[in-house]
Amino acid sequence: MKIVYTKRLEERYNTNPVEIPDRVRLPAQELRGYEFVEPGQANIEDISRVHERKHIERVRARGLFGPASLSAGGAVLAAELALEEEPAFALIRPPGHHASRDHSWGMCFFNNMAIAVGRISNQVKKVLIIDIDLHFGDGTVNIFRWNEDVNIVNIGAIDMGFEYLKLDGERYLAGVAAALDRLQYDVVGVSAGFDTYVEDWGGLLYREDYQKIGRLVKEGAEERCEGRRFAVLEGGYHPDLRYCVKSFVRGFE
Ligand SMILES: [Zn+2]
Repeated sequence: MKIVYTKRLEERYNTNPVEIPDRVRLPAQELRGYEFVEPGQANIEDISRVHERKHIERVRARGLFGPASLSAGGAVLAAELALEEEPAFALIRPPGHHASRDHSWGMCFFNNMAIAVGRISNQVKKVLIIDIDLHFGDGTVNIFRWNEDVNIVNIGAIDMGFEYLKLDGERYLAGVAAALDRLQYDVVGVSAGFDTYVEDWGGLLYREDYQKIGRLVKEGAEERCEGRRFAVLEGGYHPDLRYCVKSFVRGFE
């Protein structure tokens, strides 16, 4: 198990005030004891596979190319490690799942998960993306809409209707298990948002639920694809984020 991280991810940049450096700094402290690997920036070929030039230039004009490409580089490294059968968690910011080919919103600029999947797509056939963020990962879905080799499952996203209100932890976990059971895949990527946490905006999942989710993905991957799995941080804004991340990693490792 590797944690993909560098101090450079703690840079301050112009974004929503809730998306602070402590979101990665504190989990990194909490995960001391794990093996860390440092990512570099994603290269322009990898970014251009996913985003239109106009969008890339807009991100650059806002002074966000550096942080956005470093975050994407973290996701790429995690996906590459997964293919070497080394599970990895990319502790990265800014998040990415609201970034589409030609636009982005919701504190996202480049779609880290999509860039990572694009990078490894010539080495694997079927990819399963499980998005456990509170919000629907519209960017990732838009990007892979016509790609039948990439299956994306958003578990109970709050902005997809009132279904969320009927969810409890048990049903949520059952959704994760069903996705892993029902679909075919050669690698699993988790868009790991933690804003579904009981003290965060979603008010649903407890710390130990994240360990269970991590373990479900581990077991599914071990059964179906030689354990190839990686996760990238998406949302999560409560100070307890560090404990939720650690809990997830404990199940995932
Ligand atoms: Zn979110």
